[in-house]
Amino acid sequence: MIYDIIIIGAGPAAATFARRVAASGKSILIIDGQSDVRPKPCGGLLAPDAQKLFAHFDFVLPKDVLVDPQIFSVKTIDLVSRRVRYYQRYYMNMNRLAFDRFLLSLIPENMQILQGRCLKAEKRNGLFELEILAAGEKQSLQCRKLIGADGAESIVRRSFFKSMPMQYIAIQQWFRHNDASNPFYSCIFDAKTSESCSWMIYKDEYVIYGGCFAKKGSRAAFDEQKSRLEQFLKQDFGEAVKTEACLVNRPRKMSDFITGKGGVYLIGEAAGFISASSFEGISSAIKSGSLLADAFLQHDDEKSIAKAYHRSTLPLRCKLMTKTVKRWFMYTPWVRDILLRTGISSIALSPDNDIK
Ligand SMILES: Cc1cc2nc3c(=O)[nH]c(=O)nc-3n(C[C@H](O)[C@H](O)[C@H](O)COP(=O)(O)OP(=O)(O)OC[C@H]3O[C@@H](n4cnc5c(N)ncnc54)[C@H](O)[C@@H]3O)c2cc1C
Repeated sequence: MIYDIIIIGAGPAAATFARRVAASGKSILIIDGQSDVRPKPCGGLLAPDAQKLFAHFDFVLPKDVLVDPQIFSVKTIDLVSRRVRYYQRYYMNMNRLAFDRFLLSLIPENMQILQGRCLKAEKRNGLFELEILAAGEKQSLQCRKLIGADGAESIVRRSFFKSMPMQYIAIQQWFRHNDASNPFYSCIFDAKTSESCSWMIYKDEYVIYGGCFAKKGSRAAFDEQKSRLEQFLKQDFGEAVKTEACLVNRPRKMSDFITGKGGVYLIGEAAGFISASSFEGISSAIKSGSLLADAFLQHDDEKSIAKAYHRSTLPLRCKLMTKTVKRWFMYTPWVRDILLRTGISSIALSPDNDIK
């Protein structure tokens, strides 16, 4: 069988695209590389932009996708200047795997989802030929159009477009905690170990601590930063119950965003759609998945789809470029120091609360 469309990946970008094109009558297959033992490493925060898209689609979020506690502020810590500020935030705190499964549950049941990994993708005689590893066995699949929704490690992007944005290694550890006296979402800056930010987020009985690090020496930098944070907080994380790592993109220029051509299209982080300042990517994944679906619903030939999708993502691409400017303000140590010292747009904690 030759599928009309094969989608590699089953994250928010893929789930949104698949849900919206389901009614088109095309034969569609999703290859899902995520599993309970190999979930996507993520902070699991649903940002206001993503919440707005939920409003746009008239979605509600079931309570079993959420975790404790819900968050109203971010505690920003600079480990070098040792300054701390609090800023109001409107994130929803979620279990990321449950969130992805929820989005997939919105796709009509007759759409096929294959648990497996794409090992190779190439174009031959006008068709895409894929080598898939599923249930321990290799198989070949063919399709007319191919969607790369496979995140920062995108085999689709590497196979057909070569150029990748600058990338970091995101490392995240899970610890058990029995102390909810500090239930903040914390954002940690430490210019000594990372040129990006790290995060500490409570999730039910766990606290996750993670960050983005230069590829070379990433694990050593993570360990050093964790120990510097433990000293600063006077808190020992204890034994990690889980360590996760994956690549994360940091787009720096317009050409880092690739939307696709020749029957191959990229959505979500595979296309480079992620904030360079906060690494928030769920909203861009949903947005781009939906925009590509619009292009598929309006056009049939590959050139028109590519053109319409590229054009419709211009506002998204421009918005993400502004994040690179925001990044300069957030990550240039002397600029951050002025912002933290002056406390612009920060909130004061009530003197009678006992949160450290
Ligand atoms: C550590 C970390 C924390 C983050 N925290 C947040 C956050 O709190 N909030 C937020 O908005 N964003 C966050 N992001 C960014 C966000 O997770 C991504 O930008 C977003 O998930 C991108 O969605 P996507 O659908 O494009 O791809 P992904 O969610 O990355 O999904 C890609 C899917 O493709 C699958 N896949 C990959 N390769 C293959 C293959 N060869 N074959 C088959 N399947 C494959 C993967 O298993 C995965 O399920 C974080 C990123 C990282 C790394």
